[in-house]
Amino acid sequence: MVKAWYDALLHVFYPSLCYGCNNELIQGDQFICLQCQTELGRTQFEDIRNNPVEKLFWGRADIQFAASTFYYIDKTPLQQIIHHIKYKEEKELGIHMGEIMGFHGSGLFKTYETDLCIPMPLHPKKEYKRGYNQATLLCEGMYKQTGISYNEKVLVRNENTRTQTKKSRIERWENVAAVFDVCEPLIIKDKHILLVDDVVTTGASTEACVNRLMQHGAKTVGIYSLAFTL
Ligand SMILES: [Zn+2]
Repeated sequence: MVKAWYDALLHVFYPSLCYGCNNELIQGDQFICLQCQTELGRTQFEDIRNNPVEKLFWGRADIQFAASTFYYIDKTPLQQIIHHIKYKEEKELGIHMGEIMGFHGSGLFKTYETDLCIPMPLHPKKEYKRGYNQATLLCEGMYKQTGISYNEKVLVRNENTRTQTKKSRIERWENVAAVFDVCEPLIIKDKHILLVDDVVTTGASTEACVNRLMQHGAKTVGIYSLAFTL
């Protein structure tokens, strides 16, 4: 009773704003208003094999499956939401979006017997500056929803990425591949791994990570991202 009264009072003085459109949230709504929720473009890729995300990796990486929860489209609520997660330290929002991913992806993870989630590693300098990896927040939310645990230490991104320009395509590819490494391969050995990312665009880093995980003994690697760029 007192808490409800306190919450109502708090709402009057500090109304929460929607992360998608900046309008005031009505009491009871969390993070995203109803209007923005309807504007998040669901892909339904979880139920579609040979979907566009999977096709992106054809001939590039041996994946178990790939899917994204939403389409990434410029100037939409999702773009705002991702911006808040990446650059405004809105960690709770990141975890919330991870829960939404877990909700939509749980059937897929069950079908493919996912054992462990691994967040796409950030460049160490970037992570140090930001203080967190947004993909880890998504993993945390997915864990809350599905109970599938995650490990952010096993796959790492090396410090020294040489400049990409003036290199041939093959050299560039080798360069990206060399960036990632697996520590403690025992953790992934014979496991069905799920690589988790915020946005999949060209898939170059993702491809390199999948190949690294497979080289180090993962049984299979699936990919699931919050958004997919068309
Ligand atoms: Zn909104």
